[in-house]
Amino acid sequence: MTSDIQRIVVIGGGQAGGYACKALRSEGFQGQLMVVADEPHDFYERPPLSKGVITAQEPLPRLFPADSLAALDIDWHRPQRATRIDRDARQVELNDGTRLNYDRLLIATGSRPRLPVEEWAGIGNVMTLRSWDDACQLKERLEGSRRVGVIGGGWIGLEVASSARKLGMEVDVFERAPALCGRSVGPEVAEAIRELHQQHGVGLELERQDIQLDEAQDGRVTILADGQAHEPYDLIVVGTGVTINLELAREAGLKTEQGIVIDAAGQTSDPYIFAAGDVAQHPHLGLCLQSWAYAQNQARVVADAMLGKEAHYDEPAWLWSDQHGVNIQILGVPSGETHCVVRKEAQGPVFFYLDQDNRLVQMVAFDQPRAIKLGKRWMSAGRTLDPQSLEDPDFNLMQLR
Ligand code: NAP
Repeated sequence: MTSDIQRIVVIGGGQAGGYACKALRSEGFQGQLMVVADEPHDFYERPPLSKGVITAQEPLPRLFPADSLAALDIDWHRPQRATRIDRDARQVELNDGTRLNYDRLLIATGSRPRLPVEEWAGIGNVMTLRSWDDACQLKERLEGSRRVGVIGGGWIGLEVASSARKLGMEVDVFERAPALCGRSVGPEVAEAIRELHQQHGVGLELERQDIQLDEAQDGRVTILADGQAHEPYDLIVVGTGVTINLELAREAGLKTEQGIVIDAAGQTSDPYIFAAGDVAQHPHLGLCLQSWAYAQNQARVVADAMLGKEAHYDEPAWLWSDQHGVNIQILGVPSGETHCVVRKEAQGPVFFYLDQDNRLVQMVAFDQPRAIKLGKRWMSAGRTLDPQSLEDPDFNLMQLR
């Protein structure tokens, strides 16, 4: 580690910020570690928020036990916001006027839910889900609800729909596209997800282009989808994607595209500034991956690089979702021309998307985590696969280890 690094500032108290701090300390950084966070809570995991936190009495899903967190010896600045990065002075300015000096800066500002219509924010029974506080509020509101409308058939929407069904509510999902999760999976997987939700009694309204909300005097909300009114809902949850929190980086003149442009070590266009998590555009894919695995593992790599160590991130995209008791794991992102091979096993289907040389581009497995582990190896080795073996449920995939 180079000795000129005495002060590190991390902007963002989410998963990426948390794992970066942990890695900085475990890699031997003994200087001052400052974290600016706009939430008052310790680092926590987001995946449980749309699941156990709203269906059961789960405590804050802490990233680290209290003693491990204390051992990180963090100077917290929370709840506070960083308002400006002064690159010449190497300082971060906070909303209360404090200026923090840094030798290295990590931007891990994440993203925020995006509403299709700004005015929806003013409707009492319309909610988004991102933070622990959102989840607590959602849980409370669900307790008094019978009918829930979900706008957006992506990951948040479908996980909330699944949780609300578990709580016995009537649930309808309104999606603009003809398929569920259409940006992250192919039509075969989207169809399997649709069937799963239908089997569990979720009403699905696909290809609903124009959605309007009408709030009644009793607070219930009617959804008008392409002009058709649906029976009022007690609660509406909107999961229609996110806005990446890029403002600080843009105003500081860092190179940005969909996210902050970084190299494989997480370095931005300023050698003293790094980025991690949702806000950091994937170094090879050229898009922002809002996934748990990326936030955690890329942040660890970046922490090494911040300390001057050789580090690069080259893991394939990986995300998972639990819906109606089924664990769906997705490896890779859709790209280029592919053909789909479906393997139907008793536990659940596995979908392989192969390129013209039969190399794995994307893989989706229902309740088959071991298959995904194999897929990770095949993908990193660029292995050529035999479609007939893949689709034959009697062929043991472990033979291809
Ligand atoms: P998302 O997965 O991108 O899904 C948003 C969905 O809403 C898309 O299908 C989108 O359709 C649709 N949509 C957009 N505008 C709409 C409108 N006006 N009316 C109806 N539908 C509309 O985003 P998200 O579910 O909000 O989740 C936010 C982020 O967190 C995502 O990046 C997601 O990957 C991540 N997340 C991940 C997990 C996980 O890993 N398990 C769980 C939760 C969230 P179009 O494609 O046509 O825009």
